[in-house]
Amino acid sequence: MEKKQQLHKDTTVIHEGYNDQEHQGSLAVPLYQTSTFSFESAKQGENRFSGVEEGNIYSRLGNPTVRVLEERMAALENGAGALAFGSGMAAVSTVLVHLTKSGDHILCSRGIYGCTFGLLGILDEKYKITHDLVQMRTEEEIERAIKPETVCIYVETPINPTMELVDLHAIVNVAKKHGLRVVVDNTFSSPYLQNPLDIGADFVLHSATKYINGHGDVIAGLLVGNDKEEMEKIRMTVQKDYGGIISPFDAWLLIRGLKTLPVRMERHTSNAEKIMEYLKGQKLVEEVYYPFDENNPQFEIAKNQMKAGGGLISFTVKGGKEEAQLLIDSLELIRIAVSLGDAETLIQHPATMTHSIVPENERLSMGITDSLLRLAVGLEHAEDLINDLDRAFSLLEKSLTEASAK
Ligand SMILES: *Cc1c(COP(=O)(O)O)cnc(C)c1O
Repeated sequence: MEKKQQLHKDTTVIHEGYNDQEHQGSLAVPLYQTSTFSFESAKQGENRFSGVEEGNIYSRLGNPTVRVLEERMAALENGAGALAFGSGMAAVSTVLVHLTKSGDHILCSRGIYGCTFGLLGILDEKYKITHDLVQMRTEEEIERAIKPETVCIYVETPINPTMELVDLHAIVNVAKKHGLRVVVDNTFSSPYLQNPLDIGADFVLHSATKYINGHGDVIAGLLVGNDKEEMEKIRMTVQKDYGGIISPFDAWLLIRGLKTLPVRMERHTSNAEKIMEYLKGQKLVEEVYYPFDENNPQFEIAKNQMKAGGGLISFTVKGGKEEAQLLIDSLELIRIAVSLGDAETLIQHPATMTHSIVPENERLSMGITDSLLRLAVGLEHAEDLINDLDRAFSLLEKSLTEASAK
């Protein structure tokens, strides 16, 4: 095949994997809301099943709408193939089931998504697939944690909710040396800001529920790999037989959301940068955590693997749980909710929400204190968001002075 000129991501999200002239000129990707596909003849059915002829069979094995999403995502992450799932967790579980067998060991970054942590517990309990969560600040630190039975390194960066980074170049170096596969959960950065396959990772996955869809109305997941044959193998084994596929309608919504990913990420980022500056000047804020902050000790790592900081900021409020809860209760525009990547700005209190199941000492050692809040900055006007925060901080200050006067 002739090598196509590499398009910019801004163009890829709109055009890749679809030719309207093959679909009656329909500019929008058609929604093939069907469970099965008919064959012209018995012979064609036989050939499709044996793989002699490419084509549709049954939507759990592939669907034309879903395929457009998969091709677009593979191109966006510079991968060889992609698979779409009914949730981010279906993508996580599929790749881990694919990569491991009983007795194997998975090395993980210390902060991972709560349900991924839950899945690792299930794999251990039922199949003796063990794991360790380790801080991965240096190559030596990673190397020390590798066991003879380690088969893969599974990381998230930035880590939720502390925004701590894992150095992807260091991980890939160590993994190559030891013949380990590398899986990166790239949900927080989106394919617009970070491309782990370019650095040498083998798989990158997304909770497409977040930035990829961007409109808070779909639960979905995506897995991209650098080996086409392996991705097709996963499609016809774990994905097909565990069955965590996406519905054509949700794929259609994701295709629509994805078109504005670059535009949205730029606005998420510029809003977050303005809010970071505001928070740094706010006297009731102790610490602000954002990857693209010159004062962040990991700023060099950030610049080395991310294009920009994205929409997530964490910060600590002076005081503890009571003050943190008082602050978020005083917000009017900013909504109290978990999730991220939506048009609406969301705030949550990790200690009592997303990370409430983590034992307290472990939670504190991860830096998730009672005064930590995570802000998923949306697409509203930055000034309105800052005004909302400022009003809430004033109310918090007032109640603190009243309390100390008593
Ligand atoms: C939300 C999330 C997931 C899980 O995705 P679902 O779509 O909710 O199944 C996995 N990893 C990260 C980092 C997430 O934020």
